[in-house]
Amino acid sequence: MSSKRPAILGGAPALIDPVPLTRPTQTVNTALLSTFSDIVKSGNLTKGDELAALERAVCEFLGVQNAIAVSSCTSGLMLTLCCLGLRGEIVLPSFTFMATGHAALWNGLTPVFADIDPDTFAVDPDRVAEALTPRTAAVFGAHTFGAPCDVGALAKLAAEGAVPLVLDAAPAFGGTYPGGAMIGTGGTVEVFSLSPTKPFTTGEGGIIATDDAALARELRIGREYGNAGGYDSAFAGLNARMPELSAALGRHNLPHLPELLERRGHLADRYRAGLADLAGVRFQRFDPSARPTYKDVGLRVSPEEFGIDRDTLASALRAEHIATRNYYDPPLHRQKAYRRFDTGSWSLPHTEELSRTAITVPLWSDMPEHLVDQICDVIRVIHEHAPEIADRIHLNEALA
Ligand SMILES: *Cc1c(COP(=O)(O)O)cnc(C)c1O
Repeated sequence: MSSKRPAILGGAPALIDPVPLTRPTQTVNTALLSTFSDIVKSGNLTKGDELAALERAVCEFLGVQNAIAVSSCTSGLMLTLCCLGLRGEIVLPSFTFMATGHAALWNGLTPVFADIDPDTFAVDPDRVAEALTPRTAAVFGAHTFGAPCDVGALAKLAAEGAVPLVLDAAPAFGGTYPGGAMIGTGGTVEVFSLSPTKPFTTGEGGIIATDDAALARELRIGREYGNAGGYDSAFAGLNARMPELSAALGRHNLPHLPELLERRGHLADRYRAGLADLAGVRFQRFDPSARPTYKDVGLRVSPEEFGIDRDTLASALRAEHIATRNYYDPPLHRQKAYRRFDTGSWSLPHTEELSRTAITVPLWSDMPEHLVDQICDVIRVIHEHAPEIADRIHLNEALA
């Protein structure tokens, strides 16, 4: 039994400085600063050379024919579903970030939720197969927390239904599929986020990757209001352009990304080793020949085995000054924007269970190893005191 007393039971917090869930890691050097200065002085703040240079660099990095830089993953997904001309139903996971589903709703598509695999946290192809109907317009997968979903099985289903496979690859830029192919080369089209919580960030931004030249052409028009040039809009597009300063940030950071991802993998392994054999804590699983980006390190907490539930663990860690997130709780089908689509036929037991038990713990690319070790120690101490913490929580609830 450790001598430390959990802060939730009145002990001193393990960390004095609060530990955030994540923070962006940027390489700032004089080359970047002088590029920024050149851009600002030039007056070309958008639609310039930096955007084109970033798109070329990304095509090469991912090994794709077309990379379209946009203002966010959300706008990229909205435009992608729009430019694919989809009508009817779209099959997607409910255990994902809200923007996945929002892109479908903005396009007037009816969301049909398929359950996830409780080990990989990704949509289960067998459940997708059950959800397909003649009304299905597309299969929409997501690389949960930056680990690739089963793109082979999903692509097969999409091909059988003669519909596109769209992938929300938001957290997965730089990751690989089993066998080593880059994420970005899967499906009909993959859409990344470059927002500040992602391992590769341009402040805000997104990248659409596709080998479909016709789709890429439409997307470039779409990010420009739907105006192909003659001020006669072909369709209702968006302003979804990535500004030059953001593109420059991306271009300067891209060469450093593999090193950052390696470090993230190392830190995630350290979490895994630090919590190995701890009762009731299981990590998100994936094919060992894949390389996730670890946008998040996702754990499942079994209340019976661990002694307290996920929410109580989160409170106990907060008392130690350690931030966590209950991603994704509530899942999409429980959010107000989606409830009106419930026909009573959704069966999502694994999504329900995982949304109650999943927690993500702190990770950023230059996080010191000793912080991971401290967080693992604290989780062990909390587990050792689980019965006492559970009693305290029950008492507080009784008094409330
Ligand atoms: C971050 C994220 C998004 C949203 O990306 P933005 O660039 O902020 O629009 C969408 N889907 C998933 C799965 C994400 O993790």
